[in-house]
Amino acid sequence: MTRCEIHSRPTARLAIACLLTLSACSAALAQGPEGPPTGDGPYRPSDLVELVTLDPTIKLDIRYATASNFVGRAVYAEPRAFMQRPAAAALVSVQHWLKGQGYGLLIYDAYRPWSVTKLFWDITPQDKRIFVADPAVGSVHNRGCAVDLGLYDLKTGREVDMPGAYDETSERSFVTYTGGTPEQKAHRDLLRKAMERDGSFFVLPEEWWHYDYKDFMAYAIQNIPFSAIRSPAAPAARN
Ligand SMILES: [Zn+2]
Repeated sequence: MTRCEIHSRPTARLAIACLLTLSACSAALAQGPEGPPTGDGPYRPSDLVELVTLDPTIKLDIRYATASNFVGRAVYAEPRAFMQRPAAAALVSVQHWLKGQGYGLLIYDAYRPWSVTKLFWDITPQDKRIFVADPAVGSVHNRGCAVDLGLYDLKTGREVDMPGAYDETSERSFVTYTGGTPEQKAHRDLLRKAMERDGSFFVLPEEWWHYDYKDFMAYAIQNIPFSAIRSPAAPAARN
């Protein structure tokens, strides 16, 4: 969800959290509160790639392109999902491994323009802002290096049950939550195994659906709308 960001990480990741927070906050001070933080860089050039162009078996359920989200209306004009190319390639590798287990990936959200993070912050009451990313810092989603996702069953094509719903703000979202049915917990744990098995991604402990790509600090906060991200050229017509 919206609180997908570094601040909520446990102490094991405190060092990296502090680094990001300090650098992002100094950038925010430099730039002012109305624009995205620039960070300290240098950063790798942004190379956002649309996930389904790399593997069309990755399914999409982009909740923020529908009214089925905590905002209550669509905040994306298009139901599309992008990540930085190395992160997208790693996700395709996860998809291949999961096929052998009988499942596929179902994407709820990936790259999120900073302006949407800012919108989430602006509409959230002060006492609930613990659940949303501070736009002065930004979210890993803004870097094109975070993904919110679940699983679908290859046989039925249907989304599988997890111990809690996507974007739910309760203990059911925790990866250590012990409630739910054995089947639901097995799905959640299989997703985590698939995502973390080669070290490319790591889960946000408070959100079973949120994973960060390991090199997220190498990319700057982005504010490019989906419509401005170049899609691959159509195959050349044969003569
Ligand atoms: Zn997330």
